[in-house]
Amino acid sequence: MNVRDIPDEWWKCISTARHAMDDYIPGPNEDRGPNYGRTFHNRCLLCTTTRRVTIDVMGQIVESRYDWPDGYREARKEARLEYSTDDMRLEHMRRVRAARKERDL
Ligand SMILES: [Zn+2]
Repeated sequence: MNVRDIPDEWWKCISTARHAMDDYIPGPNEDRGPNYGRTFHNRCLLCTTTRRVTIDVMGQIVESRYDWPDGYREARKEARLEYSTDDMRLEHMRRVRAARKERDL
């Protein structure tokens, strides 16, 4: 994927190395984690990456897993090759300004 084609929703996550995670209940055909301990599910409101963390009765994390949307990790890798961390933030700001300008037209 060309870096310029990375969706804005993904770009915010990629450029900040953070996700906007919310609680999430997996669907009937989705992986719910192991059959022991307690599993917590989160999903990013922007890029749809999911995180699953399972803790045991002692509170220890026994499993932690991320699942990214198709193409996300490749896009992130390309972005990191092409942009410095500072340049990623500048590109993020450019996209925010462009979206604001588009919205105000
Ligand atoms: Zn995200």
